[in-house]
Amino acid sequence: MVHVAVVGAGIIGAALADALVRRGATVTVIDASEPGSGTSGSSLAWLNANQKLPRDYHDFSVRAMAEWRSLGDHSWYAPTGSLATGAGDRLDRLREWGYPVEELTTARAAELEPALSVAATAFFPSEAFVYGNEAVEALLRRASVRPLVTGGDVAFDVRGSRVSAVRLPDGARLRADLYVSCAGARTPALLEPVGVTVPLDAGPAAPCLVTRAYGTVPVRRVVNTPSLSLRPVRNGVQLEAGDLDTSPDGVATLLDRARELIRGFTPASTRHRVCVRPLPADGHPIADRLPGLDNAYVTVTHSGMTLGPLLGRLVATELVDATVLDDLKPYRLSRF
Ligand SMILES: Cc1cc2nc3c(=O)[nH]c(=O)nc-3n(C[C@H](O)[C@H](O)[C@H](O)COP(=O)(O)OP(=O)(O)OC[C@H]3O[C@@H](n4cnc5c(N)ncnc54)[C@H](O)[C@@H]3O)c2cc1C
Repeated sequence: MVHVAVVGAGIIGAALADALVRRGATVTVIDASEPGSGTSGSSLAWLNANQKLPRDYHDFSVRAMAEWRSLGDHSWYAPTGSLATGAGDRLDRLREWGYPVEELTTARAAELEPALSVAATAFFPSEAFVYGNEAVEALLRRASVRPLVTGGDVAFDVRGSRVSAVRLPDGARLRADLYVSCAGARTPALLEPVGVTVPLDAGPAAPCLVTRAYGTVPVRRVVNTPSLSLRPVRNGVQLEAGDLDTSPDGVATLLDRARELIRGFTPASTRHRVCVRPLPADGHPIADRLPGLDNAYVTVTHSGMTLGPLLGRLVATELVDATVLDDLKPYRLSRF
């Protein structure tokens, strides 16, 4: 039985672990912190193919949405559709590609989300969101994998053309047959020491102000407006705006936008953080064997909440069957 060591217990590592176990592998997941405490736990986690270009990436994302549906009904999976204002530029294209779109009257928009003071103009009924931490935990539980939480960063040891172990913070070595980096935005820090460059965008598109406001759940689904995105969290609402930071001005502007959009928005408490997107330089996923290292692999992507279970299943197939899938061809490192 092949033993795979997966570094990273976000949605990518958890979905991969689940798919590997289903294919008969033994899996050890290792993380510096608790599962889901990276980007996955603070993501908008909107499962969509709404603005994915070109066509093959759109289709890949549509398949990924279906992969989530195939996991069945769960309390952490919310197939509620999403609403948008200002989506007019893409509706014709999406309809032409067979993507479900409903243009909304003001009355229908108010019926869907009565607390919004700005009427949404489009409804995407096939979309969904997940409660990120809960989805990560559920996939790990389904795989019967309990991650090794190390309290500090791990690294790969290399001998010749192979990774020989995961080096834990206390100096202990964990050995496996195959090694996978699912380290999200910190992928370059894990892989540069072993000579692999993974081009992630560290520029202004990567960090995003995420606020959770508790004590009120004003919406049922993901809502995207040009200045604010939101969705429910347990006993609250998540708000995010990519153009703001956690400075007092940034936070105040975000809360002003929320008050403008949501009638009677008076949360009992708020929590703010900056969340970093793992954003490959061309915006598309990376799933590939590590160049020069025969037994190691990397998966890192933006839209990882949408893509996680599909990517996990495809990568698990490549690893366990030692095969090369056409589905992953567009996502190799050699394109950079
Ligand atoms: C604000 C925001 C909104 C987003 N909205 C959406 C959305 O609506 N839909 C969507 O599909 N995607 C969205 N994304 C992107 C999506 O959240 C990410 O693609 C996804 O969460 C990445 O998952 P991951 O498992 O790769 O990374 P992470 O969840 O960050 O997990 C990586 C894990 O690796 C661990 N790790 C890293 N390096 C080491 C090391 N050296 N040693 C030990 N452990 C290590 C970390 O501790 C972490 O737990 C959004 C991202 C952001 C920031």
